[in-house]
Amino acid sequence: MSETAHIVICGAGITGAAAACFLSQNGARDVLLIDERPPLSLTSDRSTECFRNWWPDPSMTALMNRSIELMERLAQESGNIFHLNHRGYLYVTADESQIAPLTSRSNIISKQGGGELRIHATIGGDDYFPASIESDPTLTGADLLIGKEIVQRYHPYLSRHAVAALHVRRAGWLSAQQLGMHLLESARQRGTRFLSDRVTSVEVQNGRVKAVHLDSGRTIDTQIFVNAAGPFLKEVGSMLGLEVPVFNELHMKAAIKDSLQVVPRNAPLLIWDDPQSLAWNDEEREILSEEPSTRWMTDLLPAGVHTRPEGGMDSQTILMLWEYRNRVMQPVWPAPLDDTFAEIALRGLAVMVPRFKEYFDRIPHPQVDGGYYTRSRENLPLIGKTEVEGAYLIGAVSGFGIMSACAAGELLANCILGGSLPDYAQTFSPQRYLDPEYVRKWDELTDDGQL
Ligand SMILES: Cc1cc2nc3c(=O)[nH]c(=O)nc-3n(C[C@H](O)[C@H](O)[C@H](O)COP(=O)(O)OP(=O)(O)OC[C@H]3O[C@@H](n4cnc5c(N)ncnc54)[C@H](O)[C@@H]3O)c2cc1C
Repeated sequence: MSETAHIVICGAGITGAAAACFLSQNGARDVLLIDERPPLSLTSDRSTECFRNWWPDPSMTALMNRSIELMERLAQESGNIFHLNHRGYLYVTADESQIAPLTSRSNIISKQGGGELRIHATIGGDDYFPASIESDPTLTGADLLIGKEIVQRYHPYLSRHAVAALHVRRAGWLSAQQLGMHLLESARQRGTRFLSDRVTSVEVQNGRVKAVHLDSGRTIDTQIFVNAAGPFLKEVGSMLGLEVPVFNELHMKAAIKDSLQVVPRNAPLLIWDDPQSLAWNDEEREILSEEPSTRWMTDLLPAGVHTRPEGGMDSQTILMLWEYRNRVMQPVWPAPLDDTFAEIALRGLAVMVPRFKEYFDRIPHPQVDGGYYTRSRENLPLIGKTEVEGAYLIGAVSGFGIMSACAAGELLANCILGGSLPDYAQTFSPQRYLDPEYVRKWDELTDDGQL
């Protein structure tokens, strides 16, 4: 005998959890969340847990502003059970020629919803407050420090070569596990059920979702199916005969014990905004460049190495990340990790925070893990209705799935329940690919998306 559910969600990562929470909160009854793994144990357990409202695309800024607003509300209601802070993101450059483009990009983002841009070029009388340990949700916009002196004054642990630093204020980090559990618990309290099983096929009849078949042999009759399968978005999409245009990129992160406290415990997320070549000594450089598999370590590597303190003032842990080599691949678990990742990231960070060099002779034992950015070509999420009646998508959330989860879940709930839709609904609709002009525009672009 088959069972029934009004809405079936496949995937209990942060996106599935948020979808369940906002669906049940907005009046949906009989929601069934299915995952073959424990909730929040796949990609959502691997992230750096950071958030920002500072995006080149105005729809992304609007989505993140809404998500941060929802997170702030949840934090207030729950006594900040998921440790949301507003330390900000600090983008640092040592390249004089980048100050003008950084300023003009920041001006555009500021006007597109990022908030006020405050420029500080002289010491004294300025109203810049660097990050503090406390969360300050009233801080918005960004502070742009221009000049070596002012950067050193407020962030003396940074390289003396740093000539500018952009401090994005509506940004920080949180505990993704605790946010996710809070969303799941809130959904459960409103009647959402959880089933541990694998979705093996979705039955479609006359262009409409009819039933979901599970590995256990169970069948769930339903009219609404939500694909929130994270790195398996494409695979689950194909069960409905849909081609979901996403791919998976491997991304890693390393945690080390910063026993020398080279990163201040109250630092914001620190990001080096310049490409760089790693500082090997002559002998190391010669050995690395002789071997084809290691030669890339001596090349110019991309901008973006970043770090942040993890845990409270009494913790010594820091996280280190760097997307120095993009690997597009089919997702496999456990993710294939790079043995040299922690050392490369640590050496890259030494350009921004020179005291990292104190670890060169003895790299602290790292804990490395990784997962996949499941992303669309244009690096915009897919949220909403598909061509199959009753089938919805929430995913392609790349490296921003934690920070966007609340607004994405709310948007999906409104698409399903017929609530009013924000302007950004159109931008993120999976149906955007039905427009040949849209597809042509992105196919012609040679860069890696606008984010
Ligand atoms: C190294 C790294 C750093 C990151 N840093 C950040 C960050 O700082 N900020 C940020 O916002 N984001 C960050 N992200 C991205 C973020 O982690 C992801 O975007 C987000 O976790 C994706 O959530 P999800 O729910 O879509 O996928 P997942 O968490 O992977 O959940 C998908 C679920 O679907 C289930 N599933 C799939 N197929 C089936 C099936 N057939 N039947 C049943 N269940 C199924 C899986 O078991 C899984 O539990 C980072 C990611 C990585 C890898």
